[in-house]
Amino acid sequence: MGHVFGRSNAQLPRAVRGEGCYIHDAEGRVYLDGSGGAAVSCLGHSDPDVRAAIHAQLDQLAFAHTGFFTSEAAESLADLLVEHAPEGIDRVYLLSGGSESVEAAIKLARQYFLETGQPQRHRVIARRQSYHGNTLGALAAGGNAWRREKYAPLLVETSHIAPCYEYRLREEGESAEAYGLRAADELEAEIQRLGAESVMAFIAEPVVGATAGAVPAVEGYFKRIREICDRHGVLLILDEVMCGMGRTGTLFACEQDGVSPDIVTIAKGLGAGYMPIGAMLCTAQIYEAIAEGSGAFQHGHTYHGHPLAAAAGRAVLTAILGRNLLPQVRARGAYLQAALTDTLGQHPHVGDIRGRGLFRGVELVADRDAKTPFDPALKINAKVKRFAMDEGLICYPAGGTLDGKHGDHVLLAPPFIISEEQIGELVGKLSRAIDRAIAA
Ligand code: PMP
Repeated sequence: MGHVFGRSNAQLPRAVRGEGCYIHDAEGRVYLDGSGGAAVSCLGHSDPDVRAAIHAQLDQLAFAHTGFFTSEAAESLADLLVEHAPEGIDRVYLLSGGSESVEAAIKLARQYFLETGQPQRHRVIARRQSYHGNTLGALAAGGNAWRREKYAPLLVETSHIAPCYEYRLREEGESAEAYGLRAADELEAEIQRLGAESVMAFIAEPVVGATAGAVPAVEGYFKRIREICDRHGVLLILDEVMCGMGRTGTLFACEQDGVSPDIVTIAKGLGAGYMPIGAMLCTAQIYEAIAEGSGAFQHGHTYHGHPLAAAAGRAVLTAILGRNLLPQVRARGAYLQAALTDTLGQHPHVGDIRGRGLFRGVELVADRDAKTPFDPALKINAKVKRFAMDEGLICYPAGGTLDGKHGDHVLLAPPFIISEEQIGELVGKLSRAIDRAIAA
């Protein structure tokens, strides 16, 4: 038994080699990476260009503290991000991961209002079905009951509204459009309940990942959200840590919702697993208000803007854009959806198959017609994970889909380079793992 401890005390296989869509362990077993870990490995595991970029950067400059220097790697990554970012996004703050990016976003929003003469704006509104990170500020924003419960006394109070979750929350006979507007209007009601003058920001994932299994909003939902935020002077923070960087078929997921945020966070796919990196991007308006006010964002970490991480991020982004991977994500994503529907669409314990691009979710239910979730004590999601590993598949099953405690889903987020044949392998292995988990 080793001395490292992590999220599980179970004895985990030791990963020794990654190649394309596969990870090999020390026992010689091979796993198809059907979820890119947790939507991380978008280019697969041994990309030659990213490896070369990291080596070249290492030979030139590993580290220069951002209190003293900027670097070519950080500047060129930021330029490339801004060039392809949603309208209005103009500045980039580089960090080391998703939680750090969300923390920075919340603090930036606060400082913006302090410097624009609205110090009473401090409240954050988020959605119940959400995960924004494990550090205390990001955990406070998240709405997953199970993740929050133990730490509740340490968390800053945040209000949570319902997510946009068509499979469960759209009413019989209600159109998707009417449902989207009704769901978005919950934000306005919550702003009014709290008093708009006290609300700083609304934060949401355009496509909900870890807590829900790739749930996109219905058309029109985010446009209405944007209008409500504007009407009340509330900043819109979109958390694209999981769904960003091309995962849904456009570089930023919010492009498909037709909205631009005031602040957006990205991470996982930006480093693609080659380096820990995240980023918080904001509009010129926010940046300039602070620049003209106190002068600088009062934040920082020793490793933010790390040149090696930035070089990796730049190489990943260059690969996504230069190799034309976005159309491929859309095409293979449609293929994955069709393959899942063919194999699992009529399964008595599959309630919903959804998502965008190569970001897909399968919701598991005890009763398909009544949409009844499995008893959490059955630990269906943990069993799916175990049997999938046994079948040689990495997927990302989780619980709490419905209310943070009940409901199971499996999240799929394979590398963008996955072939149709490998998608067939993924779906076959997943289907066997689901059957074994339910039978166990
Ligand atoms: N936001 C979202 C939407 C996430 O999915 C995650 C990670 N699952 C985070 C934030 C936190 O990122 P990290 O684990 O890199 O801190």
